[in-house]
Amino acid sequence: MNTVPQTLESSPALESKLPKVGTTIFTVMSALAQEHKAVNLGQGFPDFNADPQLIDHVSQAMKEGLNQYPSMLGVLELRQIIADKIKHLYGKSYDPVQEITVTAGATQAILSAILCLVRAQDEVIVLEPCYDSYVPNIELAGGVAIPVALDPGTFRINFDRLSRAITPKTRAIVVNSPHNPSGTTWSEEDLQKLSDLLEPTGIFLISDEVYEHMVYAPKVHLSVSSYPQLAKRAFVISSFGKTFHVTGWKIAYTAAPKALTHEFRKVHQFNVFTVNTPMQHGLARFMGDAQTYLGLPEFYRAKRDLFRAGLERTRFEILPCEGTYFQCVSIKGLKGELAQMTESAFCEWLIKEIGVAAIPLSAFYMNGFDQGIVRFCFAKKEETLNLAIDRLSQI
Ligand code: PMP
Ligand code: GLN
Repeated sequence: MNTVPQTLESSPALESKLPKVGTTIFTVMSALAQEHKAVNLGQGFPDFNADPQLIDHVSQAMKEGLNQYPSMLGVLELRQIIADKIKHLYGKSYDPVQEITVTAGATQAILSAILCLVRAQDEVIVLEPCYDSYVPNIELAGGVAIPVALDPGTFRINFDRLSRAITPKTRAIVVNSPHNPSGTTWSEEDLQKLSDLLEPTGIFLISDEVYEHMVYAPKVHLSVSSYPQLAKRAFVISSFGKTFHVTGWKIAYTAAPKALTHEFRKVHQFNVFTVNTPMQHGLARFMGDAQTYLGLPEFYRAKRDLFRAGLERTRFEILPCEGTYFQCVSIKGLKGELAQMTESAFCEWLIKEIGVAAIPLSAFYMNGFDQGIVRFCFAKKEETLNLAIDRLSQI
């Protein structure tokens, strides 16, 4: 019984389960960009519409009356197409009935995977910089997030550091390639090393592959699902929001071996139960043509190259971008006091004074590590990118 005296109006004292968490940087920067009418290259979302055919398929599904609860696991036609795609691209067969689950965005897939894996005081390794939902998810599950830094500057994984971070309490590792925010991708050697490292252990893997269809030649996407020693312990997660320019639809999936999926679905069914029906039918019909996702690297490569060519006219140092729709730049070579600013202060200044929004990389580190790098999203119309470049050239 809570015996704290209460007035009629005041709520009982609520001790936060996530005391260190505020509003996500993406929301904060988008709001600031809107307030100052800045070109928003911060939060990762396209400023152009999805393919009209996809919209037509979804509308058609609605008109056909496909509007009630679908299977708790996701519409079977969609799960079948996902299984076919993974088999075709990565050579791994997942059973659509027992091993693939459609989720409400990758965010929910990641949370549900963590909730079904992580017990009180379990350690979960995250490779920093990392997407901002991982650590709060681990903490909500009662676990402890153990950050392992990717090499500053190159954002490559250091396996000595990773192996030193593994303890008997390590329950899982979260990996993400293509990587948000750095745009790096894992090599075959990286995946083989991870496979060798984990083989003698009972450690699980959450592989966030939401940008799998945005990898630029000569690189190709290497999925954890292609590596049997990794796939057997992994939840492999991808997002239709990213692939089909519909981030607001919040539809994704996880593929995992039967025993892992069985536990995942126990959480999923009491978390969202299922995901909206017409979008799933629409996606299944649309994805019948594999070109809808296989054409994506070419589409985004043109945007990346346009944006990078524009950045050449600025004082930023341009970092490599092998995948994702993010481009990082260093602010260390800027003039005067700009180079000395914290990433956050610089991003605020950039919105207010230059009219362009970016995201500070420090937001992707538990301790706010600041290395003078900010991230731009180039999933934008050509005119948006050109306007941003015009403004950035003034610095
Ligand atoms: N993982 C990464 C690395 C992301 O960048 C994002 C953001 N889009 C997500 C997961 C979440 O994806 P979704 O919008 O499908 O929830
Ligand atoms: N994934 C997107 C990014 O990194 C944002 C998603 C969100 O706003 N939560 O920008």
